[in-house]
Amino acid sequence: MSGQRLAGRKALVTGGARGIGAAIAEALAKAGAAVMIGDILTDVGRDTAADIGKLGVKAGFVPLDVTDNAQWEQAVSATVSTLGGFDILINNAGIEITSLVADLKAEDLRRMCDVNVVGVGLGLRNAFRAMRPGGAAAKGGAVVNISSVAATIAFPAIAGYSATKSAVDRLTRIAAMESGKLGYGVRVNCIYPGLIPTVMGMQLANDIVAVGLAPDVNGAVAGVIEQTPLGRLAEVSDIADAAVFLCSDEARFITGAGLPVDGGMGM
Ligand code: NDP
Repeated sequence: MSGQRLAGRKALVTGGARGIGAAIAEALAKAGAAVMIGDILTDVGRDTAADIGKLGVKAGFVPLDVTDNAQWEQAVSATVSTLGGFDILINNAGIEITSLVADLKAEDLRRMCDVNVVGVGLGLRNAFRAMRPGGAAAKGGAVVNISSVAATIAFPAIAGYSATKSAVDRLTRIAAMESGKLGYGVRVNCIYPGLIPTVMGMQLANDIVAVGLAPDVNGAVAGVIEQTPLGRLAEVSDIADAAVFLCSDEARFITGAGLPVDGGMGM
């Protein structure tokens, strides 16, 4: 991605300390946006924000557990005061707890619902309140929710996770509808990433082995690649470039969409 097509924009990236979130934060900054990292990983988050600041944009860190509305209010307020506005939200924070259906645990399902669904819902709530006319930022904007290819296919051992990522898809569509109809000026879209070898992605590969669905990690990864027409795992930059596009004016007439960035795995 080239050019400063997000110059002047102010972004908050949840779960931005590392992994996909950190890559999106860096790509937004390279496109000219000022960036706030929100995460529960405080030390890593501060380091990531410091690295982004070296790219020549304003950058900061705010502690943010996405399951807590009071922390959301503080994070939005810190974003507006540190960056001078707020017009991009990347709802990226998420967790995955692998389990065969026959072994599902209520506490694991509740934890995934809390982070993946409540977290995104509260993010949308607080972004809308700040970005819509009369809000603390009041310039409209763009929200990108990170769903998963798991919302579009039946992959064994991730039923609970897939359910929460399907919920992210529905949250996206209805939020986009309300924002359009009520004149908030906020576009809302989601991305369905394919498997990426981040901390979460490699944990899933290990878990697939542990539940007996692959002989070893290499076999688990090979199984995913086999299902992917473009023949490789996803990279964090694949997702970051798509997020920059959805936040840019080039996507000005795109809202309520789900964009697969999965090498064709979910087609
Ligand atoms: P990582 O686990 O590598 O990074 C996620 C980040 O979010 C971590 O810094 C994590 O902190 C943080 N986080 C976790 N819970 C919260 C919370 N309650 N509030 C704020 N931050 C939190 O994950 P990825 O980068 O791989 O994944 C990012 C997103 O992409 C997730 O929504 C995931 O579901 C989605 N995704 C990932 C895929 C993959 O293959 N990796 C594929 C498809 C979608 P901590 O480490 O302390 O938990």
